[in-house]
Amino acid sequence: MKFNSPTGMKDILPEEALLWHLIEEKAISIFNLYGYKPLRTPILEESALFNRSLGEEAEIVRKQMFEVKRGSSESYALRPEATAAVVRAYLENNLDRTNTFIKLFYIGPMFRAERPQKGRLRQFHHIGVEALGSDSPYLDSEIIALARRILEELKVHGFTIRLNSLGCSSDQQKLKSILRIKLKGHLNKLCADCNERYKKNVFRVLDCKNEGCPQVVATLKLRYEDYLCSGCSEHFLIVRKNLDRLKINYSLSPTLVRGLDYYSRTVFEITHQGLGAQDAIAAGGRYDRLIPELGGPELGAAGFAFGVERLLLASGLECAAAKPRLDIFIASLGNSAKEQGFVLLQKLREAQVASETDYENKSLKGQMRRANDLAVKFVALLGDDELKKQMIILKDMQSGKQEEIGLDNFVEEIKKRL
Ligand SMILES: [Zn+2]
Ligand SMILES: [Zn+2]
Repeated sequence: MKFNSPTGMKDILPEEALLWHLIEEKAISIFNLYGYKPLRTPILEESALFNRSLGEEAEIVRKQMFEVKRGSSESYALRPEATAAVVRAYLENNLDRTNTFIKLFYIGPMFRAERPQKGRLRQFHHIGVEALGSDSPYLDSEIIALARRILEELKVHGFTIRLNSLGCSSDQQKLKSILRIKLKGHLNKLCADCNERYKKNVFRVLDCKNEGCPQVVATLKLRYEDYLCSGCSEHFLIVRKNLDRLKINYSLSPTLVRGLDYYSRTVFEITHQGLGAQDAIAAGGRYDRLIPELGGPELGAAGFAFGVERLLLASGLECAAAKPRLDIFIASLGNSAKEQGFVLLQKLREAQVASETDYENKSLKGQMRRANDLAVKFVALLGDDELKKQMIILKDMQSGKQEEIGLDNFVEEIKKRL
């Protein structure tokens, strides 16, 4: 009986996984530069956490939650995103009292139970940051700068940063009524879902990709001065001025809402031209309502996440760059040579020399072929004759040159040659 991986979930094989490690390492080194610390939360959370934070009407909550029920009382969901979980952890562990302001990053799998399609898996991965406990517009500018820094490091070219401000709660109420007025005459051109959304949560019309809706949305001429209050207007201005100072290009996108309830003020999305319909490689923004919504104090926060799968598609990094190199392969002939070789192998590794040998009882020729496939720099040949002389033949795989080295000082000699 053979099995397949679950629908919409895939194995990441070594060649590609090495690239994942490289991306994660590069991201972590940049998080360190910006003062972010790691946080690991469980993969499951209470379903209610997501209903509460993302909004009952969000697509994710209505259609895409991967629920896990135990008995009649316990209802969990595989996390569809990490922000709500990070805020939950921040409050549960009293970080709001011990640190007040804290910068956190996370790396890990997220889950959405939707029909798998190109660029959308049921298990996908996020690398993200959340900076909790501040409403400073400098923070908004900084996380955008951080996202761009990571993209540069990962050799992603041809991306666009789309920026918007949704304002505070009362600005959003104003924006909603402006949208209802503007969309009223176009309801017949909107899809059935959007006719529902028009009544329940008109922002979601702006996210709709169904036929007809984006065309209507494109004709909406939204003006910040019509709905942003002076405080939010000033906040947004500082965010933009800072980006200008850092020479970060962005395009203002007044219809960008991101389909989640918790956003307020700054929202942004980074899209990549090469990715087709699912072109967002990163998204995030400010969520000043979420901490109080989840029972905490009135503190602002902002964050974003990269979709790792899409980041990989957009990245110019090559697998070869991620491949660790083996230094030496020990090929042996005969039992006592194999025994001696095995001891030597461990000594080499203790001396930080990446080493490998044969485990398949291959012939000497087969071992040489294997060493060649592994692209090692050296092969150490050990047979009965060499053992008698307490010598090893060292072959440089690049030049083909061979030399004899004493078994006793082999480790020191090989280190000199690496
Ligand atoms: Zn406002
Ligand atoms: Zn629609």
